[in-house]
Amino acid sequence: MSKKIAILPGDGIGIEIVAEAVKVLEHLSSGGLDLELTEAPVGGAGYDVAGKPLPDETLALVKASDSILLGAVGGPQYETLPRELRPERGLLGLRSELGLFANLRPAILYPQLADASSLKPEVVAGLDIMIVRELTGGIYFGEPRGIREKDNGEREGYNTLVYSESEVDRISRVAFDIAMKRGKKLCSVDKANVLEVSELWREVVEKVGEEYKDVELSHMYVDNAAMQLVKWPKQFDVMVTKNMFGDILSDAAAMLTGSIGMLPSASLDANSKGMYEPIHGSAPDIAGKGVANPLATILSVAMMLRYSLDEPALADKIDAAVGRVLDKGLRTPDIMAEGCKEIGTAEMGDAVLVELA
Ligand code: NAD
Repeated sequence: MSKKIAILPGDGIGIEIVAEAVKVLEHLSSGGLDLELTEAPVGGAGYDVAGKPLPDETLALVKASDSILLGAVGGPQYETLPRELRPERGLLGLRSELGLFANLRPAILYPQLADASSLKPEVVAGLDIMIVRELTGGIYFGEPRGIREKDNGEREGYNTLVYSESEVDRISRVAFDIAMKRGKKLCSVDKANVLEVSELWREVVEKVGEEYKDVELSHMYVDNAAMQLVKWPKQFDVMVTKNMFGDILSDAAAMLTGSIGMLPSASLDANSKGMYEPIHGSAPDIAGKGVANPLATILSVAMMLRYSLDEPALADKIDAAVGRVLDKGLRTPDIMAEGCKEIGTAEMGDAVLVELA
């Protein structure tokens, strides 16, 4: 049966990089993988055609799809819109409407790009971490929240950090399952020395861990985890953490690799339906110039094959093809280095296709 893939290019460079990833999907399709690709607007593009960042037709399409490939949303022309109409709301709407609670953010440093990191090559060469971030709970969604006035007339802002056992249980299972397929090491990051919610988090992770005896489970306080990530990141295999800690740590880990244009991500629901996207934004500064790096989006297709479409061999093929393109010294401007050849977005997509073929 054919797999339905919703293609949501979004705004800015999203349009250019998704076009290259679609070439890869079409290549796989011509090789026998039964895919049905349907494009729809989201973000600023959604607002332009339907007056809202997540048009009804786009929402209906993603709900009926097996997987979603997203480019990026946002742009300066939308920044003065009321908050609920801004492009980013389209993204949040997709996450909550689809129940995408598990955010997978790999931080991989291709050996060919070791010089791009701000850390010493020996500290980061061969880096391969997977951060599993809880995406639909915690302090970003907890109630009550708001800004109120105290008796003395001073205003105070407040948010609620709350996690139920079932929320911790399900994100832990995703992380343990991934650890089983990788180096069988899982580090759960919390703040159990200060926060009750972290105490419960740790308890539940330990309990789930009893079902995964092959995985070596450790716990680390978030402040130490931030320090260890920049000191000796290769000690980590899989990390699991709550929404806000994951937000911060995954950006720090991404930057260890020095190249925002190389990193894919996945957001999964309870049935492995997923939304796949590069971690970067719509880069208005280079949009339309044909210079954006499409590799993060192409690698997002590899994640889609691995986590939603059950095609790990094809995922490996894409990863290997990207590696060979880098071996050949082909680089978009963001990862350009001495002795390499600078190419544009479409040429990079074509180079991956050549290696795939
Ligand atoms: P950004 O990630 O778009 O860009 C940051 C810097 O990285 C820019 O200099 C850009 O040129 C460069 N860059 C990003 N992707 C690149 C690529 N593939 N190839 C080469 N260079 C690349 O972040 P920003 O500038 O803070 O945000 C721009 C817009 O994107 C804003 O509207 C923001 O809200 C939005 N945004 C969207 C997402 C998303 O859709 N998931 C994520 C972050 C930001």
